[in-house]
Amino acid sequence: MKLATQVLSLILALSLLAGCATPRGAPGALTDLKPGERPALATDEAGLWMAMDRVEANLKTSGHVVTDPALNSYVQGIVCRLAGPHCASIRVYIVQTPHLNASMAPNGMMQVWTGLILHADNEAQLAYVLGHEIGHYVRRHSVQLFRDVRLKSNATLFLNVLAGAAGVGFVGPLIQLAALSSVFAFSRDNEREADEVGFELMVLAGYDPHEAAKIWEALLAQRAATKDSQPSIFFATHPPTGERVATLKALAEKTRTAPGELDLGRERFLAATGPFRATMLRDELRLRRSAATQLLLDRLAASGSAPGEIQFFQGELYRLRGESGDDVKAIAAYEKAAAAGDVPPEAHRSLGLVLMKARANARARAAFFRYLELRPDAQDGAMIRDYLKRLE
Ligand SMILES: [Zn+2]
Repeated sequence: MKLATQVLSLILALSLLAGCATPRGAPGALTDLKPGERPALATDEAGLWMAMDRVEANLKTSGHVVTDPALNSYVQGIVCRLAGPHCASIRVYIVQTPHLNASMAPNGMMQVWTGLILHADNEAQLAYVLGHEIGHYVRRHSVQLFRDVRLKSNATLFLNVLAGAAGVGFVGPLIQLAALSSVFAFSRDNEREADEVGFELMVLAGYDPHEAAKIWEALLAQRAATKDSQPSIFFATHPPTGERVATLKALAEKTRTAPGELDLGRERFLAATGPFRATMLRDELRLRRSAATQLLLDRLAASGSAPGEIQFFQGELYRLRGESGDDVKAIAAYEKAAAAGDVPPEAHRSLGLVLMKARANARARAAFFRYLELRPDAQDGAMIRDYLKRLE
């Protein structure tokens, strides 16, 4: 399709979208946040912003924020491509945690958890989720939620839960999840609206609209595989329903573009996030949810990028799971990783450990020697040399 035709069909599709959005502008209804707008002093909205300013100050010094300038400017760049004039008011914080989440506070603090980055296939998928969060921000859904909750219960609880969700939730298990999902979840109408805005923003920015439904489908499949899942804050506040997937698919159909025709941003995504994938996979493995991690590794392996690295983590999954037959599978995966070339030196150490356990002493020694050769100043070098002596 020629570019002009594409643009025309997008405009057509967007006018259809506008027609099915939730009616706005009823008396007393909130208007969209204008770029750079701040709430008037002594309003409930200003109070909400101040509470979030405190959470943001804590987040900055929490030690959980990824400070790498390249990754930050990459994600902030996507936000700016989506949010246009609102870009300057949105501050992105990449939080290192394997849990999957993105959130947007009313004051412009956006959190992107590394678990989300790890689970996205490409930039278009990430852009859809970020667009959805920008939708909540521009439509001032937090303020609406705050007012709804205040009518029903008390505002202090809401502020505490909000602070908990944004400030504490990322450090570990979410003990407040039950309170969180009942208090903090946006209404279905607001969720639908954020989906529509997110979708609209991704289309206007030129991203492939078919990717919006795809990320939900992948997450649904993964959730189904995780029987003993740790509670996910994102799923608690964003129920991944079939209805949501169907709606996003229908919206993508209306753009009259073929899947893959518009920008997936896959190369940019891999270039920007690739250097962090090993760290993100290590964090993921620590969750000890092997069924879900297996699905993730299958997706990564199918995508064809970094085959050695993916095989190494496949071996790690088997080694750490330790079910019957897993050691044999782990050895095969590490050997495949070594053959692929882009393997981290730790693959040789892990291979040595499994071979040592299997009493394949000569092969274990070879693997440990290779590890020390590649990492002469390894922190665990003394321990490995000790293993080598015992294996003689
Ligand atoms: Zn949402």
